[in-house]
Amino acid sequence: MAKILLNKQNYFHNLKLITKQAGAIEKVAVVLKDNAYGHGILEIASLAKEFGIKNAVVRDLKEAKKVESFFEQILILADTTFHNYSHTFHIAVNSIEQLERVPENTNIHLKIDTGMHRNGISIDSIETAIYGALRKNLNITGIFTHYRAADELSCEFFWQRSNFIQVKKAVLKICEKLFLPIPKFHSANSSALFRFKNFDEDLARVGIACYGYLDTDSCFNNPNLKPVMSLWAKKLSTREIYPKQRIGYGGIYTASEKINSSTYDVGYGDGFFRLNGKKKYLTAKGYEILGRVSMDNCSINSTDEEVCIFDDVRQLAKIHDTITYEITTALKANIPREVI
Ligand SMILES: *Cc1c(COP(=O)(O)O)cnc(C)c1O
Repeated sequence: MAKILLNKQNYFHNLKLITKQAGAIEKVAVVLKDNAYGHGILEIASLAKEFGIKNAVVRDLKEAKKVESFFEQILILADTTFHNYSHTFHIAVNSIEQLERVPENTNIHLKIDTGMHRNGISIDSIETAIYGALRKNLNITGIFTHYRAADELSCEFFWQRSNFIQVKKAVLKICEKLFLPIPKFHSANSSALFRFKNFDEDLARVGIACYGYLDTDSCFNNPNLKPVMSLWAKKLSTREIYPKQRIGYGGIYTASEKINSSTYDVGYGDGFFRLNGKKKYLTAKGYEILGRVSMDNCSINSTDEEVCIFDDVRQLAKIHDTITYEITTALKANIPREVI
């Protein structure tokens, strides 16, 4: 069966660079949402704990429960069930209405909309939100925002960042007035973290950089990250293909010489997006995927028992006109993961 190998050395290498940039390991929150971007949430959570990471970010309560024992604090970004929160969990509150639905005594991080206009409480409503949270006995343990363009060369990042600095000032003033404990302030994802000269926030929510990628504009001084995941497939069968014979659905690939072609057990049913045969794709070792990818297999000009389909998804992201995030996240949870 196909399998995903997770390179522990590369993961730790990335975490070292991230920790150095953040200034302290306590400031690093590893983002494990969506099965750790397809890498396997339990495997990655366990490695993160081994490295000494204390904070994690997940999508919903189901994911949070899976990794509860690995971390001291877990931020849940988009939960919609609103019940039974453990004290390890901190719930992101995305609107004033949501405050009403969170059970009493829950830890919350208020998400502030500083310009992305996707989620979050407007800057004008911060005071209302804080008073609302206090009325419901909620513990405001964090205040955060998210950038819409931290990965692009433009002034947008600086504009949102200065908005967040204003938010921080306003919140600190209210906390002082009401004798509230100071919450953690955080705004940075991977690309934003690496744009800070001196990172001075309480937490960085780092996803893609942990896994070895940063889709940030190449003009930035990007760190030397290493991809963690590689996808491997097993050989199903081999045949000789003669000149002018065509391979696979639609017969898109035509052999120009005699070749050995084998089928391998990975396809779009595993979340390996369908290559349509129009753009050439080479595997890690330089073999070519011949013609279209099928649901459960693909043809490759190799006879090896096992082929590494990729150990870096940037080429695939380009071919599919998408971002590295989508390529890794699409891989199905039922593919076995193995840490090496
Ligand atoms: C996914 C996500 C992140 C992580 O982003 P990366 O670009 O992968 O580092 C951080 N914050 C929020 C709110 C997110 O949804």
